[in-house]
Amino acid sequence: MGSRGALIFAAGGLLGLLTAAAGYLALRFQRGRHLADRVWAATDCPKLADIGAVKHLSILPLIDWYAATSELLTEPGVSYLVRAGDTTLLFDVGFNAHAEHPSPLLRNMATLGLAVADLDAIFISHMHEDHVGGIPCQLRHTFALSAGPVDLRGIPAWVPQPMTQPGAEMRVVTGPQVVAPGVATTGVIPRQMFFLGWTQEQSIVVNVEGKGLVIIVGCGHPTLERILERVERCFDAPIYGVVGGLHYPVTASREMLAGIPLQRILGTGKWPWDPINRADVRDNIALLQSRHPFLVGLSPHDSCDWSITAFRKAFGPVYRDVWVGQEIVVQ
Ligand SMILES: [Zn+2]
Ligand SMILES: [Zn+2]
Repeated sequence: MGSRGALIFAAGGLLGLLTAAAGYLALRFQRGRHLADRVWAATDCPKLADIGAVKHLSILPLIDWYAATSELLTEPGVSYLVRAGDTTLLFDVGFNAHAEHPSPLLRNMATLGLAVADLDAIFISHMHEDHVGGIPCQLRHTFALSAGPVDLRGIPAWVPQPMTQPGAEMRVVTGPQVVAPGVATTGVIPRQMFFLGWTQEQSIVVNVEGKGLVIIVGCGHPTLERILERVERCFDAPIYGVVGGLHYPVTASREMLAGIPLQRILGTGKWPWDPINRADVRDNIALLQSRHPFLVGLSPHDSCDWSITAFRKAFGPVYRDVWVGQEIVVQ
């Protein structure tokens, strides 16, 4: 075979490999979507009659895309300090994209006068790199607050699938359950994504006395529709608000790789050639408006400015920016 023949042979081989990979992903996507729908339909969810209530809820973003002041660090990831009554809980642990120690999360905590020792529990919404402290953590099925040692001994960690962690006491969540007085998990809701595969995500529900349920969401992969439906089926109080990531990267992506808008392609449960669009966002706004919420805050870590502006306009005085260092208080 001449050099030209070898080149044609290699190109043919590469094309064959790419076609096989695309075929595998398409098949996996189809099967996973059907399985996620079957799991969703089959999940029996008895109402949690009394999860308790708290008088005061504060959500303080420690990691997200925008910050309230310039001395706080930002990332395309999520970590929120949730203070619900007497419970202080860390909701996700950020991205730490450059594997730093201390991580942006620990440095922001120090700037805000917070310590790991203040935490009563850790809650991991789902096992994506921007929520568990980096790609190595995701690959190793673990989470980390920083790239160096952080003592988490004795701290319970509510996780959405089996994970290991050298210090924390791992508690794998399946269905909805109370995690602290007035604080519960929705239980995991699965979704198949084309490239990222099977993802199961849980959200937090806090029952604020005299107000109702505040739902705190990580990335929103299960879809807003299913998260709302799960909460309405499993909890016995009205929805007061929704705060967190809902994944609307319509005009931009916060995570880019060599010019490729990763979030627009990767984090969606739709086909890759059909990314989230303006109509999807408008539909979701209408869905949320139908619940007449008193509090709405959209995380900028996985939503573009166009979507944030649409939410801000749609919800007016009940809209809150989700910015690092800016506390969202319900009492
Ligand atoms: Zn995610
Ligand atoms: Zn995310």
